[in-house]
Amino acid sequence: MRDLYTISIFFMKYQTIIIGSGPAGLTAALYTARAELQPLVIAGATPGGQLMLTTEVENFPGFPEGIMGAALMDNMRKQAKRFGAVFIDQDATKVSLEKDIKKVTVGKEVYEAKTVIIATGASAMWLGLPSEQKFIGHGVGSCATCDGFFYKDKKVLVIGGGDTAIEEALFLTKYATTVTIVHSRDMLRASKAQQKKAFANKKIDFLWDTELQEVLGDEKVTGAKLRNVKTDEVQEVAVDGIFIAIGHKPNTKIFKDQITMDDKHYIIPQKFQTHTNVEGVFVAGDVSDHRYRQAISAAGIGCMAAIDVEKYLESHNL
Ligand code: NDP
Repeated sequence: MRDLYTISIFFMKYQTIIIGSGPAGLTAALYTARAELQPLVIAGATPGGQLMLTTEVENFPGFPEGIMGAALMDNMRKQAKRFGAVFIDQDATKVSLEKDIKKVTVGKEVYEAKTVIIATGASAMWLGLPSEQKFIGHGVGSCATCDGFFYKDKKVLVIGGGDTAIEEALFLTKYATTVTIVHSRDMLRASKAQQKKAFANKKIDFLWDTELQEVLGDEKVTGAKLRNVKTDEVQEVAVDGIFIAIGHKPNTKIFKDQITMDDKHYIIPQKFQTHTNVEGVFVAGDVSDHRYRQAISAAGIGCMAAIDVEKYLESHNL
């Protein structure tokens, strides 16, 4: 049986519903809550977004000594709650956005609002190899913070050459004996600061111009077949774990056919604003940003979306 609180939020029409609870969603929640719009945040079944999967965040302004990703998200959520934001820690399963009253379905419940802010972020990408898929959770992963502990005194590979790959590799050196970064080119995409840390770490080595061809193992990973993309030479290496860190894809599946997206399924906001092509629907954070993808830029756009919602409600006398 539902309690009174659930019944009351079930029948309420919200000024705004925010879908997502990373830096963009939580900043939008803080700003709309402070504007007394009483936002409902559909925070997802694993709230907090990608920063929950990271360790120390050194580049979010205001924390001179750095702050743990989970602590930063916890602070943001508490701050939004303090001003009245309401949270539901489940995934939105369906949306209906075209009419004046927007509907967001969460399991069996349907919540209604005058505006929606989409801040569903992005998720780690996989290579798509059958052997990779087979061993996910059995030696293949995409989150060193979550699984690194299991690789104490073991050998691991990290696939990719961006900031995520370096971050994962650096974290894994706390446990593993060696961490080999396997990258398909001969130079990293990661920022210079991250590269410097990786090159200075004695536990990290690199396999350049190399791609993962197959994950080897029986019940769990025992090795990898790697191909040099320049010479076509294939080698087998013995490893205990493989971390895939090749980028992200936006979480936009439930908005398909309702909101305009680019060819990579990122939502396209209007120039300098957070409006989408649908009246009353706004977007913020990595779900519409494949260029900057930083916690601080997502938070900034979350703030912009909240202000755009406020102005939209005002100008439409809603
Ligand atoms: P990126 O897109 O920056 O990097 C992805 C890497 O994976 C690239 O090196 C790319 O190769 C490689 N790659 C992509 N597809 C494949 C494939 N099919 N097979 C093999 N390799 C592949 O993603 P990240 O997740 O690293 O970073 C996302 C964003 O988040 C960036 O803007 C980054 O700066 C930011 N970030 C910042 C952090 C920080 O500041 N502490 C930490 C983590 C992320 P190629 O280089 O050839 O394109």
